Amino acid sequence: MSETRYNAKASTRSDAAIVESVSQSSSRVVSVPPLVRAELLGKTYDSGRTRVVVFENLSLEIHEGEMVAVVGPSGAGKSTLLHLLGGLDRPSSGSVKVATFDIFKLADVDLARFRNREIGFIFQFHHLLPEFTALENVMMPLLIGRALRRPAMKRAAEVLRSAGLENRATHRPGELSGGEQARVALARALVGRPRLLLADEPTGDLDGKTSESIHSLLKEVHASHNLTSVIVTHNERLASICDRVLHLEDGRLR
Ligand code: ADP
Repeated sequence: MSETRYNAKASTRSDAAIVESVSQSSSRVVSVPPLVRAELLGKTYDSGRTRVVVFENLSLEIHEGEMVAVVGPSGAGKSTLLHLLGGLDRPSSGSVKVATFDIFKLADVDLARFRNREIGFIFQFHHLLPEFTALENVMMPLLIGRALRRPAMKRAAEVLRSAGLENRATHRPGELSGGEQARVALARALVGRPRLLLADEPTGDLDGKTSESIHSLLKEVHASHNLTSVIVTHNERLASICDRVLHLEDGRLR
């Protein structure tokens, strides 16, 4: 398979030019390419004894600036789809393009760098590192991306503050409430200024009132960070504040 290189500079947002050309011409139709394009995506888990075909031939497009919910019954493949869109797992067939990158044509090292620079992940149950403080958890993607410690700490503190957690920076995850952990996970996802936010049940373990505050925060940061967001959720309220809802069921998206 031919491999391409990830070049962060090549991915800088060229969309301003597109927006400009759209605004200059109210009568002309200008087609804006999607930020994410999955084509004929398939995933089969094969453990030798059992074979699970999660889906085959799924195609979807997500445009820059969209906030999209993915809903569907448990086991339908929502997390699998999210992981494929973010290059956390490789598909059995098909392709995923994010901006100009055909991500599964990237070599492993470039795919890792691409994820680190372009994508913010919020995992189910937050997946914070228990032995590190909130601030250290938020700094982690920057340190992995080889940022210097002092500017990484400054940036992480700034994002924690914007998530309303400046008073919890030195707490470890075990010393935080569920809602606070969700905010740390969101801050960690945003710290590297990603273009694409992928969230897997970001409020799945939270009570109604706490969930509502995280939903509002997600909506707010989606706009203020110029994000494109894909959010897997069972929560109807969260789905209802998204621009579009995709239903995944029986291997099909509708
Ligand atoms: P959802 O997020 O919609 O609940 P998942 O994407 O987690 O669904 O899982 C889809 C299907 O794939 C399920 O039937 C699940 O058992 C199966 N599956 C997920 N991960 C693996 C794996 N690593 N190995 C084998 N089967 C898996």
